[in-house]
Amino acid sequence: MRCHGFRAVHILFAVIKFHQMSTSLIFDLSLAKLASLLVEWGEPAYRTRQIWHGLYRNFWNTPEEFTNLPGALRLKLTESLEFNILVRSSTLQSSDGETVKTLFQLNDGKAIETVLMKYDPFEVPQHEQIEYSGQGRRTLCISTQVGCAMGCVFCATGQMGFKRHLSSGEIVAQVMYYARMLHDQGEVLTNVVVMGMGEPFHNYENTMTALDQLNDPSGYNFGARRFTISTVGLVPAIRRFASEKRQFNLAISLHAVDDALRASILPVSKNYLIDELLEACRDYVAVTGRRITFEWALVYGLNDTSEQAHLLASKLKGLLCHVNVIPLNPTDGYSGKASTRLRANEFKNILTRSGVPCTIRLRRGVDIQAGCGQLESILYKSIQK
Ligand code: SF4
Repeated sequence: MRCHGFRAVHILFAVIKFHQMSTSLIFDLSLAKLASLLVEWGEPAYRTRQIWHGLYRNFWNTPEEFTNLPGALRLKLTESLEFNILVRSSTLQSSDGETVKTLFQLNDGKAIETVLMKYDPFEVPQHEQIEYSGQGRRTLCISTQVGCAMGCVFCATGQMGFKRHLSSGEIVAQVMYYARMLHDQGEVLTNVVVMGMGEPFHNYENTMTALDQLNDPSGYNFGARRFTISTVGLVPAIRRFASEKRQFNLAISLHAVDDALRASILPVSKNYLIDELLEACRDYVAVTGRRITFEWALVYGLNDTSEQAHLLASKLKGLLCHVNVIPLNPTDGYSGKASTRLRANEFKNILTRSGVPCTIRLRRGVDIQAGCGQLESILYKSIQK
């Protein structure tokens, strides 16, 4: 009997798994795909707009909320499409209450993390304060992969290895989850940074499809310039991104401009030497007219020296760019230490005096492993093992 019981449970899980795998995620559907699905179902054309607005303007996330649709169509939506794309497993809030990290479980049992950072109005430029009625910036950091193949040595996501790409719908769902949450609190999401788990340019198609979908004026209409995509520096993808002329901001994790040092921190950079990368950056600026942001995690005694700062300044001379430096966030798998405030200031001053704009970024959410390079860590381990 016991044996049969186990078999029955296995079969049940197999059926559930098959159902999940064979059901499309609602957010994987573009407006055009949704329209053709509804045509297939024999629905009038205006239903497409009703569903699209329900999802992206009313933030509805279950078929039951679509009370403007006939019951039969709601049932068909329930049977044919998966709405429950991200299941919140847990949420951690930083001690200052300004950073929130959520662990989401995906339909195949894998997990990702997404981080919301709140900035007070006084931390936000004046023109944005007016635009957002003084609420301050609400920046969401989203993931594009489970794990990452790039293997950056100081990064918790890199240390866990690559598991799989996220679909465009799984990327969209992270944004809509927080858009809905903030909407319920009378606030709006103001910025999205694609800097969470994964290398977005390694999952190029799905990332661009997701951002285009969120940018769609007939749906969520999130401004293109409010997105920032961060890459470790995959040159062919940077060139492709430049040629496609999207308005999303581009950030590049640089961390070193000496090829040997950079390769020791970012193994993938062996494939793209620094001069080749910076040439692609110059071409990007020439084609798009847009400024590039360079990220530099300051590791004590490694890449925070005055020599490194002078070398960086010389490499970036004449390039339309901004450098963000941030003292390294700790992870279990890397022994490097964060630079001191004094060294960070000296580094910044060298760049500024050389005509390269530079900002020392605030470290956010370090106490809950929600800082740059820390995603995966505690919550992921607890659910996967
Ligand atoms: S820093 Fe980014 S690109 Fe590098 S391993 Fe981590 S997630 Fe991947």
